[in-house]
Amino acid sequence: MEKKSTHFETKVIHTGYDSKDHLGSLSTPIYQTSTFTFDTAEQGERFFAGEEKGYIYSRLGNPTVTVLQEKIAEIEEGEACLAFGSGMAAISAVLLSLTKANDHVVVSQGIYGCTYGLLTLMEEKYNINHDFCLMENEQQLRELIKPETTCIYLETPINPTMKVIDLEMVVSVAKEYNLPVVVDNTFCSPYLQKPLELGCDVVIHSATKYICGHGDVVAGLAVGSQELMAKIAMTTQKDIGGILAPFDAWLLLRGLKTLPIRMDRHCENTLKLVEWLKTEPLIKAVYYPGDPNHPDYEITKKQMKHGGGLFSFELNGTKQQIQTFMNGLKMIKIAVSLGDAESLIQHPATMTHSVIPEDVRLSMGITDQLIRLSVGLEAWEDIRDDIKQSLELI
Ligand SMILES: *Cc1c(COP(=O)(O)O)cnc(C)c1O
Repeated sequence: MEKKSTHFETKVIHTGYDSKDHLGSLSTPIYQTSTFTFDTAEQGERFFAGEEKGYIYSRLGNPTVTVLQEKIAEIEEGEACLAFGSGMAAISAVLLSLTKANDHVVVSQGIYGCTYGLLTLMEEKYNINHDFCLMENEQQLRELIKPETTCIYLETPINPTMKVIDLEMVVSVAKEYNLPVVVDNTFCSPYLQKPLELGCDVVIHSATKYICGHGDVVAGLAVGSQELMAKIAMTTQKDIGGILAPFDAWLLLRGLKTLPIRMDRHCENTLKLVEWLKTEPLIKAVYYPGDPNHPDYEITKKQMKHGGGLFSFELNGTKQQIQTFMNGLKMIKIAVSLGDAESLIQHPATMTHSVIPEDVRLSMGITDQLIRLSVGLEAWEDIRDDIKQSLELI
């Protein structure tokens, strides 16, 4: 085996795969199979008993998916990774494995809309309760931790308000109470932020976003200790079954190779657009963690490599004017999701966060005037010009 590189850019390309094990195939083969044959009945018995390692059935493991899992574990600096059929499959598998009926979870104030939906479902079905916390300081967190609390779950930067939570602060409180910290790291990708290095316990990705990067896969990932991932693999992943297909794993492996260069461009474009948009008279506010004027900028600098490829802004206007602005865009596409080559714009209050009751949504800072832009890989001047011409329509 060649010398292992510690560079992120090299690891996304080489880690976890050796062409010598695959007839020299440079590209990871797609093991498009549901089941695997055993040499003998005795070998099948040993595989099932765990006495010998081998592939049995693709819900329990698939070689193409394994390559992806090993690569992600390595670049997130975790012991093990599991791949899922969607980000929500990863989030639900992790949250269900860390809780049982009547437990309690402390959650960041501002989370992905469907994660909110999942927490509501867990409450209704299993009385697993949750409290939202701003997580601006230790005091706020301590006040919400109860004897029944079994984990802390958060997103940073928060979707779509772009507030940043200090991961080291959360970890220091969590350690006192011996609680695992779970971070949805989708907005950063492993390139910009590594929560496990800062002491968090589980990292989750909607790999649909930056890790894929091309808008053609829905997938999820969870990274954490060998022990926890093995438990999830044998329970909430195996028995609920939200696994990733081999072809989708292959697309993610392909996307991953360009993650660092894509992220650099996403971040560069975003910073330029933010600087420009702040000077536009119709814009009430621009929220971007990489903006030196952002209230959480110091935390951003501490735990993120760059500010990321997403920002949100408030447009001074009615709902109708906001829709006129979005409809007037010629290149930027109106779509949820993020992290793709194409710039995508969406209106959280009526789209991604519409399932959240209005009062809760407003308390999260998601106003009716808030618009989120996922900055693509186009020339930033073209994105700027598109926004400019559409602002002129209102
Ligand atoms: C998209 C997204 C999810 C859900 O992931 P899916 O792949 O769509 O299931 C979870 N968290 C964040 C922050 C997301 O952006």
